[in-house]
Amino acid sequence: MSSSRVLVLNSGSSSVKYQLLDMSDSSRLAMGLVERIGEETSRLKHTPLTGGGAERERTGPIADHEAALKAVADELAADGLGLDSPELAAIGHRVVHGGKHFTEPTVIDDAVLAEIERLIPVAPLHNPANLTGIRTAQALRPDLPQVAVFDTAFHTTMPEAAARYAIDVSTADEHRVRRYGFHGTSHAYVSRATAKLLGKAPEDVNVIVLHLGNGASASAVRGGRCVDTSMGLTPLEGLVMGTRSGDLDPAVIFHLARVGGLSIDEIDTLLNKKSGLVGLCGDNDMREIRRRIDEGDSSALLAFDIYIHRLKKYIGAYYAVLGRVDAIAFTAGVGENAAPVREAAVAGLEELGLAVDGGLNAVRSDEPRLISPEYARVKVAVVPTDEELEIATQTYALAGKNS
Ligand code: AMP
Repeated sequence: MSSSRVLVLNSGSSSVKYQLLDMSDSSRLAMGLVERIGEETSRLKHTPLTGGGAERERTGPIADHEAALKAVADELAADGLGLDSPELAAIGHRVVHGGKHFTEPTVIDDAVLAEIERLIPVAPLHNPANLTGIRTAQALRPDLPQVAVFDTAFHTTMPEAAARYAIDVSTADEHRVRRYGFHGTSHAYVSRATAKLLGKAPEDVNVIVLHLGNGASASAVRGGRCVDTSMGLTPLEGLVMGTRSGDLDPAVIFHLARVGGLSIDEIDTLLNKKSGLVGLCGDNDMREIRRRIDEGDSSALLAFDIYIHRLKKYIGAYYAVLGRVDAIAFTAGVGENAAPVREAAVAGLEELGLAVDGGLNAVRSDEPRLISPEYARVKVAVVPTDEELEIATQTYALAGKNS
C-alpha cells in the first residue's frame, strides 16, 4: 500500500492544531484543533474533509498533550483515517525556533531534539510546547519519520547586516542575541506563489511579503531568498500586531521598570499580550476595528492609522533594501481579507510604482490574485498562505517517499 498521508501538527502551550493531508494530490482529509489543554473546559473541534461527515466538537477535560493527541487519533480513526494506518507516511511538526543551526526542514532524531531544547532560552513560550508535541507523536508512532519544519529557517539566508543588532558582539554571541525572524514557512510559500502568479521563476523575482495575521511580519525576498524580515530575536519586533507592540525604543522597557515600577514579567506580558491593536483600542480583530471606525470611533481610527503607518514604513524600508521590487504580496487573516488595510498601506506610493485598483481590491476570493491596475510597475498581490500544506510538502519531500 502506498504511503502518501502526512499529519501536520502545530503544538502550542495549551493547544494542538492538526491537519491530515494526502500528498498524492495535496488534498486535505481532515483538520482540527484541541484548545485549553490542561483545563476543565478543553475543547476538540474536528472537521472531516472527505466522506461528507459533519464537524464534530467535544468539550471536557483533556489533561495534557498526550491525551490531546490520543483524542485526535480517535477522531481520525472514527473517519477511517487512523494514525496506525500504513498509509500515514510521516508527521510534520511546526517548530517555532530553529536558531541559526536549522536552515531547512530536518528529520527528527535525538540530536535534533537536543538542539531544539537548547534553543528554549530564546523561545521560552514556543519550543517547549513544540517539543512536547514531537515527543507525544513519537510515542504514538515510534516507527514513523517525524520532521521539524522551522519558522526561522527561511530567514537564515539573511545577511549579517540585517541579522545583527548593533550591540556588543561578544555579549550578543554569548546569549545568541540576533534577528532570527518568524512566519518563515508562510513567507517562503507566499513568495514562491507570488512568483508563480507573475508567471516567473522565484529566482527572477523580488517580493515584499506582508504576513498580516494576529501576529504580523514583513519580509524582503530577493530571488527566492530572504534578505530581511521584521521579526527579530522573538516575534515581538516589527509591525503593529493584534496584541504585540512591534518596534519600540528599548528604553521604554527601562522606563517602565524604573519609573513605572513594573516587573520584567509584567512588561513582557504588556508588550506581547496587551499592546498592538488591543492595547491601542481594546480590539485586535480588524473586522471589529473597521466596524467601529465606520461608527466614528476615534480610538479605533487611531489604532488603524498607527497600524498602517508602521506597515508603510516597512514597505518603504524593504523597497530600499531590495532596490528593485516586482511585487508586494498581502497574506494571512488581515492581509487576505481586509481590503481597507491593503488600500491604505499602498495609498500615496504611486511614485514607487505602486497602486491598488479599487474594484479588484474589493473582490473576495480564496485564490492568489493581482489587485494592482494594469499600468502599475510593481504588482500588488493577495496570496492566501497555506502553512500546513507547505509543512506537509516539505515533510513528504524529506521523509515520505522513503517510508
Ligand atoms: P490569522 O492570525 O492569520 O488567523 O489572522 C487573524 C486575524 O485576521 C483576525 O484577528 C482578524 O483581525 C483578521 N481577519 C480575519 N478575517 C477577517 C476579515 N474578513 N476582515 C478583516 N480582518 C479579518
